[in-house]
Amino acid sequence: MDVIIEETRKILREYHLCDYCIGRMFASRLRLVSHKNLGGKIRKIIKQKNPKSCYLCKNLMPELGVFLNKMLDISKGYEFSTFLIGAILQPSILDRDDVIRSKFKLRGIAGIKSDITREIGKQFGKKTKTKVDYQNPDIVFTIDFKKDICEVKPKALILQGRYTKEIRGIPQKQESCNRCDGKGCFVCDFHGISEFNSVEGKIAKFLFEKFGAQQAKITWIGGEDESSLVLGNGRPFFVKLINPHKRKIILPKKIVLDGVSILHMRPVSKVPTDQIKFKTDVLLEIATEKDLTPDALNVLGGLKDMSVSISENTSWKNQKRIYDVKIKKIESRSFTILVELDGGIPLKRFVTGNNIEPNISLLLENSCKCTTFDFHKIVLSN
Ligand SMILES: [Zn+2]
Ligand SMILES: [Zn+2]
Repeated sequence: MDVIIEETRKILREYHLCDYCIGRMFASRLRLVSHKNLGGKIRKIIKQKNPKSCYLCKNLMPELGVFLNKMLDISKGYEFSTFLIGAILQPSILDRDDVIRSKFKLRGIAGIKSDITREIGKQFGKKTKTKVDYQNPDIVFTIDFKKDICEVKPKALILQGRYTKEIRGIPQKQESCNRCDGKGCFVCDFHGISEFNSVEGKIAKFLFEKFGAQQAKITWIGGEDESSLVLGNGRPFFVKLINPHKRKIILPKKIVLDGVSILHMRPVSKVPTDQIKFKTDVLLEIATEKDLTPDALNVLGGLKDMSVSISENTSWKNQKRIYDVKIKKIESRSFTILVELDGGIPLKRFVTGNNIEPNISLLLENSCKCTTFDFHKIVLSN
């Protein structure tokens, strides 16, 4: 301690420093946590009064309470149990910190920046009963001491669920707000969409209200037509909720939203980045150009266990599979076929025969059109 008192005397002879800044110089050497207490103790021993202004931090450290109050204020509406603080300082403070450290050969001490975030984090954690988390915080503060502003950004919340669509006439995707092209503006309340008449819109609206979120970015496992139904266990999807205020909501197993239902929605750690493979059972309703002869549809039984080649831009690839088919004649020029197949096969093209082999028109030697296709089951393969 004597050495430290002597060194402090030397430093204070040249510079006026606050308790925090004195304490920081020696705390690690003494293995003490509270820089302020240590600084105060040293000051008492050498009998020096508190300076009006700290040469190093210009009283930023003793007056952190101002920023603490700002943090408390802007984080009031958010649900969180962990946080992280980033700070932007005046370069001149960092310069003075360096000058004193090198002049007095003080090694292995915390820089003023980490000291500020540590100190204010300690106080904020105590007030809000939350903890600092460096890896995966619920919210992140950025305090800009240069501009005197404090911002908060909550971590996006990722949810996984399935949806069913019980009535026809609901498109899967919502058109972006035409003012901002989906980025978010005053017109769309920063949601990026301004109408809510699609599956996407209905899910997003529910989530905006439930989680106080700003935007909902949905990753779909496969797509459908406006006229398609999605039945059975529903279509899986992931949604990234941007700027959620709430994050600990327990959702019911089934959420009914006017024609669309959300099933088994729950938080997950991330949206998968690999392509997701899936199998579907789809019921296709097909209209033919010519009358069907009595045995004409039998040939379609051969589709079972067949592989399908799809051509995109003249190159044939994409070996997908059909697993099972069940055929039912309805009228002389219409029938239905329930197909179990790999996800990603373009269904309308599979009927008309546009760059896809085999296809229904070719097999029947009859020009066919798919009038509707409904999903009865969707199973993820991995
Ligand atoms: Zn200071
Ligand atoms: Zn907009």
